[in-house]
Amino acid sequence: MAATEAAPQTPQHRHQVVVIGSGFGGLFGTKALRRSDVEVTMVAKTTHHLFQPLLYQVATGILSQGEIAPPTREVLSSQKNARVLLGEVTGIDLEQRLVTSQVLGRQTVTPYDSLIVAAGAGQSYFGNDHFAEFAPGMKSIDDALELRGRIFGAFEMAELGAARGENVDHLLTFVVVGAGPTGVEMAGQIAELAHRTLRKDFRSINTRSARVILVDAAPQVLPPFGAKLGAKAQTELEKLGVEVILGAMVTDVDERGIEMKFKDGRIERIDTVTKIWAAGVQANPLGRTLSEQTGAPLDRAGRISVNPDLTLPGHPEVFVVGDMISLDHLPGVAQVAIQGAKYAAKEIDNRLKSKASAGPFHYFDKGSMAIISRFRAVALIGKFRITGVLAWLMWLALHLIYITGFKSRVTALLHWAVSFIGRGRSERTTTEQQIFARSALSRLKRGAADLVSDPGAYDAARQLLETTRRAELEAQALEEARLTDAGQRGVPVGERVG
Ligand SMILES: Cc1cc2nc3c(=O)[nH]c(=O)nc-3n(C[C@H](O)[C@H](O)[C@H](O)COP(=O)(O)OP(=O)(O)OC[C@H]3O[C@@H](n4cnc5c(N)ncnc54)[C@H](O)[C@@H]3O)c2cc1C
Repeated sequence: MAATEAAPQTPQHRHQVVVIGSGFGGLFGTKALRRSDVEVTMVAKTTHHLFQPLLYQVATGILSQGEIAPPTREVLSSQKNARVLLGEVTGIDLEQRLVTSQVLGRQTVTPYDSLIVAAGAGQSYFGNDHFAEFAPGMKSIDDALELRGRIFGAFEMAELGAARGENVDHLLTFVVVGAGPTGVEMAGQIAELAHRTLRKDFRSINTRSARVILVDAAPQVLPPFGAKLGAKAQTELEKLGVEVILGAMVTDVDERGIEMKFKDGRIERIDTVTKIWAAGVQANPLGRTLSEQTGAPLDRAGRISVNPDLTLPGHPEVFVVGDMISLDHLPGVAQVAIQGAKYAAKEIDNRLKSKASAGPFHYFDKGSMAIISRFRAVALIGKFRITGVLAWLMWLALHLIYITGFKSRVTALLHWAVSFIGRGRSERTTTEQQIFARSALSRLKRGAADLVSDPGAYDAARQLLETTRRAELEAQALEEARLTDAGQRGVPVGERVG
């Protein structure tokens, strides 16, 4: 395959690569360019690299957020050709090769020669975005901390209510919507929390009577793992005390419960205060911008169709990787993003060295796994189905390898020992802000930007204040001088004592 021409290298101009996102695609793409003769700017809307697969452990008090979200600036501190820019990308101009990002009203425009877009995906409520208020998803550190506050908070409210003789069943019922790996892991952990960790901590409630319900419209749990592993996972969940409801579509969510519709038309309601949404993803809206400028179609989940080499039609300098792409039915998993980003970095490097392209991107499936509870997991590796303790040990080893940074690995291992060998949870701290900040911020027109001054506004206001104040002081001084001259201020000379 012929090499695509890269922007010329001149002594003044080093090839500029902009990477959007600091997730699996963004971080691994940036790192893969460390030896290339380029300058990389990673633009991301958070200051950390998030290890999403362990978010549920932050939500259920096993790990701290720091262990799964190291600062990208620190991770890349020794990579001399990389810099990190905080900002949410709001525009990509493919014609002018410019990326526009914003943070708290401050706008930055970054030019590029090559672009890697790895902005991931968000939660999808299948057109019912109002569900989000009562059933948070699990995509970010904010989400996980909010859920932690809601889960532990529900037990606290139940304790208060029970002490007054009230019915607290709705507070001790937890519903997880979506029986994919995230939903299964979340339901398993809430069950362990209620039935094991918290059982001695309360006086008016019996946490072991809490109901944990996993709901999905599909006919089995963990559909991508196949029927056998799905059935095994369901049995393990039921042994833990999780109620599994399949073939049920969630049709409404409100403050006090959810409503489900079954295939036979039956409608049922579950009274529950704590709902967790782990169903459905929607690719990042930047996909739409790219689609509008290139004509590349979007699928129903907003994923953009890319060429076999992960570039956009008519734009060989733009690569899109990870959860944002639609190509050969590739799944939305970390390895697709990591391998895609490394491939894009290699292609950019090849072009700069006038080497031929490596050909189309090929994904190597290393397998999938989901943890159900301590010592219980399921794994599908090639044709092999592995369950039980062996799958759990594989899960442990793999996650230790992929957690970024030695420090985080050691502390995560300690916290796992506390939770899996003991019955404690090291990270049970919750605050009111964690639980309510998301809804409060969403009520502000411009979000957090409403809480700070616009760029330059503070300095301008201060300058105006100072000018006005100075004019006032000068006028006051003049008036004092006039009154003194007129003999209306001060002590007349003749009356001075001593
Ligand atoms: C709860 C959960 C559990 C998961 N479990 C597993 C698992 O066990 N195994 C597995 O393989 N996969 C798992 N996944 C999927 C896996 O995490 C994703 O496939 C992977 O993160 C995709 O990588 P990405 O780089 O495409 O996107 P992400 O890792 O999501 O990164 C996107 C990045 O873009 C940034 N960003 C978004 N919009 C903008 C913008 N406008 N401007 C600037 N920056 C922006 C984000 O802040 C983030 O840094 C899980 C996902 C979730 C949510």
